[in-house]
Amino acid sequence: MAAPAKDENLSLVVHGPGDIRLDFSVYSWLSILELCRPGWPRTQISACLCLSSAGIKAWAEDQENYPIPELGPNDVLLKMHSVGICGSDIHYWEHGRIGGFVVKKPMVLGHEAAGTVAKVGALVKHLKPVKMAGADEEGDRVAIEPGVPREIDEYCKIGRYNLTPSIFFCATPPDDGNLCRFYKHNADFCYKGLPDGVTFEEGALIEPLSVGIYACRRGSVSLGNNVLVCGAGPVGMVTLLVAKAMGAARVVVTDLSASRLTKAKEIGADFTIHVAKETPQEIASKVESLLGSKPEVTIECTGSESSIQMGIYATHPGGTMVIVGMGSEMVNVPLMHAAVREVDIKGVFRYCNTVADGNFHACIEDFECKALSYPQIPSGKGCRSL
Ligand SMILES: [Zn+2]
Repeated sequence: MAAPAKDENLSLVVHGPGDIRLDFSVYSWLSILELCRPGWPRTQISACLCLSSAGIKAWAEDQENYPIPELGPNDVLLKMHSVGICGSDIHYWEHGRIGGFVVKKPMVLGHEAAGTVAKVGALVKHLKPVKMAGADEEGDRVAIEPGVPREIDEYCKIGRYNLTPSIFFCATPPDDGNLCRFYKHNADFCYKGLPDGVTFEEGALIEPLSVGIYACRRGSVSLGNNVLVCGAGPVGMVTLLVAKAMGAARVVVTDLSASRLTKAKEIGADFTIHVAKETPQEIASKVESLLGSKPEVTIECTGSESSIQMGIYATHPGGTMVIVGMGSEMVNVPLMHAAVREVDIKGVFRYCNTVADGNFHACIEDFECKALSYPQIPSGKGCRSL
């Protein structure tokens, strides 16, 4: 590794619970405050403000200026342009861990990303780097798939590479993410299909859209289905978009937040249910009465126990319940209710095979993500209200 050079590769780095560092010489106070989501409790906002001291310290000591990575033969060096802030990034910042993934050494955040190819490894044929200084031609604009298998094991061979235990995944400890100026990635997991007119910000959100695509595929959503989406956060929203695009006749979305449900309606939900104090069974029967029958597919995006229970009660006999939301390890569910009605319960771990060159038009234009989410990002609302 080359020695770090000043201003080479400034990075946003989590060091442990509540300890995130970056160089305040390049990030404005405003952009840091944009990390605070609307409606966050004051403690979180003040945690955000506390960044200042850590950030200034980092700047003084030049800690967050990483070396520009050396390339292997199948790698590309990307000049990063846009990186989304995901719930998992926030979680690593606040708690220093997600389940068994613990931040034990400083880790660069970020996995929803797009950038420009700056340099390619010796064996990379399909991506074009930026020309040498002076030329005005740009390198290929790419979106990044953050999970890259390290070995061709049994899971890779059957196309389920997301399950390979040794997978590299951006910003999952100990693997660094790409919220930095320059980032090295496997060329086969960089997708250059970003059409003209599609921005880098839109390219970055291909990653969360992938979660919705994969969840709907796991549920086998198809033409004419009734679908229940539990939760109207970002993942619930992209799941709704994808379910409609895959031909779902009607989609019901549930949430605790009225404003999220209003957004869900705007982007295509046929019905919404504002969850308050009803029991899971009561909400399930509301779902059935709105649709006129139980949904063939339920996609649970909250991870909350009562919502998972509700999803099982609500799903049509012979239907499928997909668990996307991450909650407690031990969850009480009416399992026999699912078993005797042959409701299949399927898990989801990230995604695989959701993005390929040429799919970007489908992702961006058909699902109209652009109109829905991106204009809100500059105002700091993108994460919350996609
Ligand atoms: Zn994410």
